[in-house]
Amino acid sequence: MQALPAFRYFAPTSVDEALGLLAELGGEAMPAAGGTDLVPSMRQGLFAPKSVISLQAVDALRRIGWDDGAGLEIGALATLREVAADAEVRRRFPFVARAAHAVGSPQLREMGTVGGNLCLDTRCTFYNQSQGWRDTRGACVKTGGEFCKASPNGRARKCFAVFSADLATALVAADARVTLRSARGTRTLALAEFYTGDGAKPNARAPDELVTGVSIPARMQDVFGTYLKYRVRQSIDYPIAGVALTLRADAARRVGDEVRLVVGGVTSRPLVVGAVAELLRGRSLDDALIEQAAALARKAATPLANTAGDRAHRREMVHEMTRRALREALNHAQ
Ligand SMILES: Cc1cc2nc3c(=O)[nH]c(=O)nc-3n(C[C@H](O)[C@H](O)[C@H](O)COP(=O)(O)OP(=O)(O)OC[C@H]3O[C@@H](n4cnc5c(N)ncnc54)[C@H](O)[C@@H]3O)c2cc1C
Ligand code: SF4
Repeated sequence: MQALPAFRYFAPTSVDEALGLLAELGGEAMPAAGGTDLVPSMRQGLFAPKSVISLQAVDALRRIGWDDGAGLEIGALATLREVAADAEVRRRFPFVARAAHAVGSPQLREMGTVGGNLCLDTRCTFYNQSQGWRDTRGACVKTGGEFCKASPNGRARKCFAVFSADLATALVAADARVTLRSARGTRTLALAEFYTGDGAKPNARAPDELVTGVSIPARMQDVFGTYLKYRVRQSIDYPIAGVALTLRADAARRVGDEVRLVVGGVTSRPLVVGAVAELLRGRSLDDALIEQAAALARKAATPLANTAGDRAHRREMVHEMTRRALREALNHAQ
């Protein structure tokens, strides 16, 4: 691990002050929340911002609250531990609490935040290495080169680095919306739309924008949800495949309009598998239908060999976790 590069450090105490700094410093600055991803990445020379704007003292961004109209609102600076332990989150969206609790280790959940999880950089075995390691191999698309080293023939001009955030995957399944603020104004978009699918620029945040929070619509509170994760080390690891499911079914097990299957940890964005929703809508859940849906999820999940785990095995795990998630939903409906 290298020493941190030199940078200017700012510690604003309000959102407006933070936005003013971002407007002034623009692309030369990066926000830091818990720092659990940013600091190791800076030590590896993956980022070298001239300025770091710590959000730790911006208390207005820490709130988690329920409103019957607006639903669940979670401030960007709420920690993963706080989300996992929050009574409203656990009661209304237990799968969101479960996804927050699935992140890394207790230390990472203590420091890591919701905003940092949503804005997590994508990962790749050719990228998350020391500067020295990368220097011996030359640049790839994500580091300013021409070709992707992880693509099957090494000639693709696109980056396929993997988005591996547990909470973000569950929040996409919860149909969450993310709010971004800058000195230019505020915009709110569906979290699914926040992600670009481009491993080199994984989300739509502009350099002068802050993620200020995320909200789950009130209508989702009585929708069944689950999050399942597959990782190498249970004690501390990113998902090498994850499956989030939300689904509303009636007592006859007939699936309604509210159904989303999202696969994380295999592509450059939380992958919403629309084919599964199309298959299930209006049909009665049974073992045969579940098997068809699991096969569709497996087909849609196309990992490259750029994270831990064998590709075929990870696809198999997507199949298995989709099957388990749908069985949970079936039990819940019954
Ligand atoms: C060993 C290890 C294991 C890990 N395992 C997991 C895992 O299992 N699952 C998982 O999901 N993650 C994992 N992580 C990644 C990370 O700890 C979490 O995703 C955490 O939620 C990141 O939050 P943070 O506040 O620490 O982000 P930071 O490191 O502070 O920031 C991450 C990125 O988000 C940006 N950012 C932060 N907050 C904002 C904001 N409000 N607005 C705009 N941009 C912002 C930063 O500029 C930076 O680019 C792991 C990390 C490590 C080191
Ligand atoms: S997926 Fe390809 S371009 Fe992206 S970081 Fe890995 S090797 Fe580089």
